[in-house]
Amino acid sequence: MSEAEARPSNFIRQIIDKDLENGTHASVHTRFPPEPNGYLHIGHAKSICLNFGIAQDYQGQCNLRFDDTNPEKEDVEYVESIKNDVSWLGFEWQGEVCYSSNYFDKLYDYAVELIEKGLAYVEELSPEQIREYRGTLTQPGKPSPYRDRTAEENLELFKKMRDGGFKEGEACLRAKIDLASSFIVLRDPVLYRVRFAEHHQTGDKWCIYPMYDFTHCISDALEGITHSLCTLEFQDNRRLYDWVLDNITIDCQPRQYEFSRLNLEYTVMSKRKLNQLVVDNLVDGWDDPRMPTISGLRRRGFTPAAIREFCKRIGVTKQENMIEMGVLESCIRDDLNENAARAMAVLDPVKVIIENYDSDKVESLSLVNHPNKPEMGSREVPFTRELWIERDDFREEANKKYKRLVLGKEVRLRGAYVIKAERIEKDADGNITTIICSYDADTLGKNPEDGRKVKGVIHWVSATKGVPAELRLYDRLFTVANPAAESDFTHMLNPESLVVVNGFVEPSLATAEPEVGYQFERIGYFCLDSKLTGGMLTFNRTVGLRDTWAKIDN
Ligand code: ATP
Ligand code: MG
Repeated sequence: MSEAEARPSNFIRQIIDKDLENGTHASVHTRFPPEPNGYLHIGHAKSICLNFGIAQDYQGQCNLRFDDTNPEKEDVEYVESIKNDVSWLGFEWQGEVCYSSNYFDKLYDYAVELIEKGLAYVEELSPEQIREYRGTLTQPGKPSPYRDRTAEENLELFKKMRDGGFKEGEACLRAKIDLASSFIVLRDPVLYRVRFAEHHQTGDKWCIYPMYDFTHCISDALEGITHSLCTLEFQDNRRLYDWVLDNITIDCQPRQYEFSRLNLEYTVMSKRKLNQLVVDNLVDGWDDPRMPTISGLRRRGFTPAAIREFCKRIGVTKQENMIEMGVLESCIRDDLNENAARAMAVLDPVKVIIENYDSDKVESLSLVNHPNKPEMGSREVPFTRELWIERDDFREEANKKYKRLVLGKEVRLRGAYVIKAERIEKDADGNITTIICSYDADTLGKNPEDGRKVKGVIHWVSATKGVPAELRLYDRLFTVANPAAESDFTHMLNPESLVVVNGFVEPSLATAEPEVGYQFERIGYFCLDSKLTGGMLTFNRTVGLRDTWAKIDN
């Protein structure tokens, strides 16, 4: 990671500064705790940059821990993708990957400790009854008839749970805390439930699984986490986090701090919703370039540096907010403007024939790869009698503001000659099929000598040497800024979120590597798709250019 990525400041870093200053902690240990039930999205990137970024900047450590207590929804496919995405973002976790399931034996023992202390009991009310008995914000809960069983009885029943003696939903273990608490999470929360499910790490060893609130705090403590950072919806759960650690024998007291989730306009950010898009085939998998997933952004052409920069720009606060897509787009645009090689592609081709240019001639022109970075070198681009230009770069008539090719006028072809449109050919429907031009052989790399001013420059691709390519133009996935607020978010999908066009690219792009960004001059930033390989060259539009033409055009 470059030095240029300066340290951000936020309320969590201020807390850490204090903790280090007054000796509460000698070093910092954070963790990123995804549940392996889906692919990571840009919201997770915020948490990753926060947790790993803190560890980096304070010379501390950050664990990658899979919070794997819901075996039915989890899968090793997700475990692998998450490891891959975290590495790709440029972060290294401390030591081996951790799993909450590593601690299932210890968690069981801690549950036994709570039972022995009279602080947990085996419940035999149904899940519906438990909900009913729990009360509401205005009404206290009422005790279950099983609440006052003896520790001995509870120990035996808990063991029976573990040994498969109860069906799912027949029994669970609950903490005995406070049925009248204003924090509903403290009204005897469930700590363990019965699930006869094969676990991706522990196989069929267990038929009882600990709940998140019980597991997370203990996993943090066992790993020596100092600052446990999570999103605001866990604010109330902090009471339970502390209660569990206060009531078991463990010699580490991590502290939980909450920050606001990232919400992005025109997309959804919950794994459940993203999964639905995948399962219902509304997108082409988790890594569809329109998805807000890390793998989707990657396939779209985002770089790790741009995503880290985005996380830096949005900052970390306790304020709920909705970030404009433009913020994310400007991060990748800035990166690619600086670092992407330039190339030429024509998306909506119309043919140009240069009538005074030899039909067998192929000139190899050397074009710089980056206007401000000579160190990026140059490439050879073949120039021929027949070329493609953008249909939109030609007009039969136009006013002076139009700086492209006009019938009877001149324009410069990028890195090549000045051409003049002499006449056009049209098909039966009146569409232009060919623009017959002449070229001025004396204008390669210099202005016409008689003082003719040629202001416009347009891009082009040789019609005989260029390579056909499929160009995939992406737009926002949804038509409304907050699809999650709709009764059915899938009804808000943008039918034009993917437009596929067939165009031509300069031959140098035939050897482009997937995910490497190019600026297709005057069009936008593109990269070769990493999946649709083998057939025609397929490029994904990462993001458009700033629309510089808008001002001059009209
Ligand atoms: P989702 O609601 O998208 O399914 P989650 O919270 O269930 O996400 P986890 O796998 O539990 O997903 O998340 C791992 C970590 O990433 C947690 O600490 C969580 O708080 C954080 N995280 C998840 N979504 C966001 C987000 N939108 N912004 C910031 N952090 C997030
Ligand atoms: Mg979660």
